[in-house]
Amino acid sequence: MEQGQRARLVRTVAEAVIAKAEHLTALDQAIGDGDHGVNMKRGCEAVLADQVALSAKPLPDMLKAIGMALVMKVGGASGPLYGTLFIELGKALPAAPTRADATTAMQAAIQGVMARGKSQAGQKTMLDVLVPVHAALADGADGVRVKSVAAQAAAATIPMLATRGRASFLGPRSIGHMDPGACSSALMIAALVDALEEVG
Ligand code: ADP
Ligand code: MG
Repeated sequence: MEQGQRARLVRTVAEAVIAKAEHLTALDQAIGDGDHGVNMKRGCEAVLADQVALSAKPLPDMLKAIGMALVMKVGGASGPLYGTLFIELGKALPAAPTRADATTAMQAAIQGVMARGKSQAGQKTMLDVLVPVHAALADGADGVRVKSVAAQAAAATIPMLATRGRASFLGPRSIGHMDPGACSSALMIAALVDALEEVG
């Protein structure tokens, strides 16, 4: 992947999150403290501001640098978790990954998030999108299928009871709302699929 393609990936994903920041904040107002959109927007704006230097790096280094920027800029619970996700992806991926490499790296990155968050799927978090998307990738899903799995997985957090993160403080009142981190993960995955299809 060339520098221009890496730049496009970074821009597409960051801009998709920024475009939905208010929606993410509204979701977090329902079952959290209402900062998820603001947090993610701050992180993505920092990444966009540094996109030239970031995309000049080989893919693994770019991903690690994005992860570090997210840890520093996003804050909240999601900053260190998304930071870990990107840093671990960077550690696990070669410079020119195959689909199999990407699937293996996503598994490693998810394990990093689980270790950092002391969490697993089924607790109404971002993992409820990341885990089924990984399973779909491992199962040979194409881009359209990956996007639909991500959207359905985010929607499937609505009836879940939160047992991790701030939403867990609400107990049963967390039921009936989409998890904000599940939504941001689905957004990033959809944008990534679109960007990868554009760059070929
Ligand atoms: P905070 O909860 O500190 O305000 P954010 O609002 O930015 O941080 O992010 C909240 C999101 O982070 C949740 O919607 C959830 O998806 C994710 N999250 C929180 N705690 C965990 C955890 N332990 N494991 C995985 N994801 C988590
Ligand atoms: Mg919050």
